[in-house]
Amino acid sequence: MNYISPSLTRTTTSASLFETARHVIPGGVNSTARAQWSGWLPYPLFVEKGEGSRLADVDGNHYIDYLLGLGPMILGHRPPKVTRAVVEFIEQRGTVFALPTADEAVLAEKIVAAVPGVEQVRLCNTGTEAVLYATRLARAFTRKRKIIRFEGMYHGFSDGVYWSKHPPIDKAGPDHSPKAVAQGPGMPRGVEENLIILPWNDAQVLADVLARHGEEIAGIITEPVMCNTGCILPKPGYLEAMRDLATRHDVVLIFDEVITGFRLGLGGAQARFGIRPDLSVFAKGLGGGFPVAALGGRKEIMSLVADGTVSMAGTYTANGIAVAAANAALDELGRDGTYEQLDAISDELRTGLDLVLKQAGLPAYTVGLGPLMQVWFADKPIHNYRDAERHADQDLFRRWFEGMLERGVLFHPGAYENLFVSTAHSREDIAVTLAAAKDVADSLA
Ligand code: PLP
Repeated sequence: MNYISPSLTRTTTSASLFETARHVIPGGVNSTARAQWSGWLPYPLFVEKGEGSRLADVDGNHYIDYLLGLGPMILGHRPPKVTRAVVEFIEQRGTVFALPTADEAVLAEKIVAAVPGVEQVRLCNTGTEAVLYATRLARAFTRKRKIIRFEGMYHGFSDGVYWSKHPPIDKAGPDHSPKAVAQGPGMPRGVEENLIILPWNDAQVLADVLARHGEEIAGIITEPVMCNTGCILPKPGYLEAMRDLATRHDVVLIFDEVITGFRLGLGGAQARFGIRPDLSVFAKGLGGGFPVAALGGRKEIMSLVADGTVSMAGTYTANGIAVAAANAALDELGRDGTYEQLDAISDELRTGLDLVLKQAGLPAYTVGLGPLMQVWFADKPIHNYRDAERHADQDLFRRWFEGMLERGVLFHPGAYENLFVSTAHSREDIAVTLAAAKDVADSLA
């Protein structure tokens, strides 16, 4: 693509910082989601600071931020109560003790009270860790070996699950029985024999596989909303069918709520959809921007951790900063009306975007739920990863991203990421965003 973004001339400091960083940091960044090839300008924006719904880059450009750190900043940047709680904890009490604090049970009680499927909960540091523990527990509990995971989802970067995130579909086997494709070289040989990869949103395929292989299958891991191939909602009845099938075949149902948890409501997607998984994984929304994650679920399964049968460890697990942040974040999120207001403002954004795209005559629409959404440039509905690969126009999405960036609205350049809204976004932010969107949509039509 030969399109040259005017954003390039306004971000020369980012460009030169990237050049410096590349000499000492592989690829110049510390995560592949920030890498050159993940769709940013030839370099990512370097951040000066965030404040509420806004982000400033090192060149002094200001953006309304819907990237929100890829999800954690649900209270906006530098949420005062969370920041204060963390600073006070550090100044008055410390950071890491390798011994428990009273604050941990306070936090666990809040999570148990909020999330329907969580009777007990253990903390850890990242979603990747929590998923690793969830699959380990599922195997230990059922004494079975295989995990079903769905093509197009992401459950962190550990060897056991970092397969078939976004494989080239001409190399990934038939639509109904995809083969496991490693995310790259370096995975231990044979790991994929413990995985069954399936297309999402197809209850019949799941039923057939469980009927044939249920005796080997320990767990099903799914995002309740597919957030790692854009935003794809479950078809009506799909999660219910998954729940029934898991129960019938003695399979542990794991909801990966790393993105949806504490975002689609205090009870996450499981409360919103009324489905109770056996195990649930949380991260981003939990800590108000601080690294903390959790694995929770049925007491019967979690008891394997209690008696030491299954080990969950970690030097930094439940460190003082993480727990202080999460306690403060959940108090903020738990205030009356928080999610109603967040949903209302997010719906205003989503319906506004739909209108603008429609009025421009573009083959595009939004999909989302509350403060989680994505714009699809596609002329067909998308229900799973292969639909997206076949029907989504990635080039048009990229031009949409660049047009919005030029007008001071930031989200991830990847069509398979999400737009996130925070409690710090205002009606004015939405109005400015929609005016920019109208301009960009008209220019793309
Ligand atoms: N699960 C899902 C659904 C995610 O989106 C992510 C990260 O984006 C993870 C797990 C991994 O979480 P972390 O980046 O905290 O390791």
